Amino acid sequence: MDFNLSEQHLMLQDSIRNFAAKEVWPIAEEIDAEDKWPEGMWQKLGNLGIMGITVDEEYGGAGADLMSAVLVLEELSKSSPSIALSWGAHANLCANNLNHNASHEQKKKYLPPLCEGRHIGALGLTEPNAGSDAVNVQTVAVRKGDHYVVNGTKMFITNGPVADTIILYTKTAKEKGAKGITAFILDTKFPGFSVSKKLRKYGHRGSPTAELVLEDCRIPVENVMVGENRGIEVMMSGLDVERAFYAGEALGIAEACFELSVKYARERVQFGRPIGAFQLIQAKIADMYTYIEAGRMLCYRAAVFADKAKGGGKGTEVHKLSSASILFNAEMAARIADQAVQIHGGYGYMLEYPVQRFLRDAKLLEIGAGTSEIRRLIIAREILSM
Ligand SMILES: Cc1cc2nc3c(=O)[nH]c(=O)nc-3n(C[C@H](O)[C@H](O)[C@H](O)COP(=O)(O)OP(=O)(O)OC[C@H]3O[C@@H](n4cnc5c(N)ncnc54)[C@H](O)[C@@H]3O)c2cc1C
Repeated sequence: MDFNLSEQHLMLQDSIRNFAAKEVWPIAEEIDAEDKWPEGMWQKLGNLGIMGITVDEEYGGAGADLMSAVLVLEELSKSSPSIALSWGAHANLCANNLNHNASHEQKKKYLPPLCEGRHIGALGLTEPNAGSDAVNVQTVAVRKGDHYVVNGTKMFITNGPVADTIILYTKTAKEKGAKGITAFILDTKFPGFSVSKKLRKYGHRGSPTAELVLEDCRIPVENVMVGENRGIEVMMSGLDVERAFYAGEALGIAEACFELSVKYARERVQFGRPIGAFQLIQAKIADMYTYIEAGRMLCYRAAVFADKAKGGGKGTEVHKLSSASILFNAEMAARIADQAVQIHGGYGYMLEYPVQRFLRDAKLLEIGAGTSEIRRLIIAREILSM
């Protein structure tokens, strides 16, 4: 058993850490304040060769493992969880999912521009009335000759306002429930697709989120992924990988808050001593360190498992483990970000100090990719075989 990262992983971690310190940290506060995606960032990320990090080289990707993707996400999140979230929706929810589930022809067509950073990817599952109950999607696709006519609304879609390619979940046989779901590759230029609203958020500002509308949207038959009524396979394997992956964002947020807190505890003087000399502050720092190390183990282990499993779903070890990883890391990040604000006192409540941004950003990790409640349900059902 070896708990160390490989040479390759360490080199990648180092290069993304340097990039984030130079290019991401300096603009993180501004994009949060203005809720604006930074022009040129996509190209800069593309130049790093990470837009299709886990995609096979044959389709323009880097052919790296999920662990590499987690390390990139963790490092980006330490500077800007917003940029990390958008990159993740593109590189994991969209490109990685296509790499696993799309046909050779589909991959040849859609993956190269995504991997080069010329196109932006997204995933459209959630609807206004289908969130935790994801298999209850109401968007309907009806086959008419060589295409499907799709009608429905998608909600809370990361990168929705700017996406070129969206993995879209629909119902093709409502009466079959989960077995009537079909996944499509949607080109946002298809007639009948529109962005109805860019949504305003209190965290992850700068990562654009949208409500999307499909009104008699025509999607060619060749854009069905895996097969008609087989969307549940795409959805379930994708969700397990997504949970293992996004735990890395929570870990990055917690680490950033820890580093800022240690620095502040050394510098801030009250009662003639740095506040780090007070045992109540020391206890918070010690707890942060301990929880982060526990979270890291779970996060990296789930990432390795999810990669080996090449998917997941009910009854697999990764189903339980990826839920446990994001459950623990998300709640840890929210708790640590809250404690970081506490250590910063009144200054922590001021917009000039980044800890409040991390606190607002951390909350999403307890909601997106299945809420904490749903993650607990999944873990318990797997353990109890129910
Ligand atoms: C900023 C942001 C970005 C997102 N990005 C994407 C994206 O890119 N693509 C995408 O498809 N979706 C995305 N989502 C959607 C996200 O996955 C959903 O918000 C999430 O799954 C929860 O669904 P909901 O918001 O409808 O909450 P609901 O399902 O309505 O849940 C409300 C509350 O009820 C609880 N609850 C529900 N069912 C149960 C139950 N059976 N037992 C106990 N408690 C329960 C929930 O845990 C929660 O506390 C995003 C959301 C946000 C906020």
